[in-house]
Amino acid sequence: MNADAVCPACAKADLQSQFSVSASQAAQSIVLPTADRDRNQRLEAHIRFLWGADRCEILKCRNCGFGFSHPFVAGDADFYNLANSDVSYPQAKWEFTRTIEALRRSRRNNASVLEVGAGDGFFLDMLGAESIEARNITAVEYNTKSIRNLESRGYRTIASDIRDKQFDAYQSAFDFIFLFQVVEHMSGLDDLFDRLRYLLKSGGSVFIAVPNPRRIEYQEANDSVLDMPPNHVGRWTPQAFSELSARHGMRVVASEIEPIDWVEFLEHDISYSHIRRTQLKPDGIPARIRSLPRGKFRRLAEAAAAVAYIPARLGAWASAYRDRRNMGGSLWVQLERDPAYLPPASSRQDHPSASAPPVTAI
Ligand SMILES: [Zn+2]
Repeated sequence: MNADAVCPACAKADLQSQFSVSASQAAQSIVLPTADRDRNQRLEAHIRFLWGADRCEILKCRNCGFGFSHPFVAGDADFYNLANSDVSYPQAKWEFTRTIEALRRSRRNNASVLEVGAGDGFFLDMLGAESIEARNITAVEYNTKSIRNLESRGYRTIASDIRDKQFDAYQSAFDFIFLFQVVEHMSGLDDLFDRLRYLLKSGGSVFIAVPNPRRIEYQEANDSVLDMPPNHVGRWTPQAFSELSARHGMRVVASEIEPIDWVEFLEHDISYSHIRRTQLKPDGIPARIRSLPRGKFRRLAEAAAAVAYIPARLGAWASAYRDRRNMGGSLWVQLERDPAYLPPASSRQDHPSASAPPVTAI
């Protein structure tokens, strides 16, 4: 089934299958058919269209540990429109403060920055205290309401993929580029990493945070939610970042796992295992409660249903406690350009810089 697959991070073909999911399971993980049959059915049809098949396999690379969906196809705008009826952007996150700490160490005058997937700009607002001026801040964001919020604070916004032609004009334009909880949603990784190098100034850094793969493994091994494609299509490891960076003229200069936050861990575990029960038993009581109209009664009933299963979670929590050093929510990396890198001759003509108009010497 996966004879044609290679690892999108390291390009090796030594892969093992983890499990496979159907379009119906993927759709049900987002919207239960009992809650909204029409949206569930449209989502299922669209996922099948994206995959070009009824099933998708999760593969793991034995060389770099990268996990990925096969077919390796990211969700498109239609998918996210169908999937996200109510997006809420995270506020304080560990990767934000960790990145600020790194910025303080690599201070650059008059720095120009880009955040991909900026949401309502919670992280960007932290940059003012670091002497980064609003006029030097660019945000990639699609949500209309968020764009208005960002522009009201003086940030420039661009509503397109950084791999699109529009970004050809930004060669070596940014000292720092931020992608928080974005890269795990993306395919087309060779183009992405080529582009990050292209946009980055010499001596600048890219900061990326993704879900910690160990946490994903814990959830999937302990009756909690699956990290489901095509929402998340990549499961990143430090080695996967390192291999992909090396193939595109960059290198990992720092890599860290978030220290575990037990309140966050327990809240998510109780709620995710409840959601998983509703998926596994669509006719069970937890699923029936989750299919009620949104409101205070449903919230209370769901909380009660989730709490009733706490005794069943104790074994899983004991295993998480034993592995607590590796169980934080995020994996964070800092990348820089590799000054010694020469792109392979065959790919040089495909590089964005090669298609730029010729510069006339004065
Ligand atoms: Zn690999």
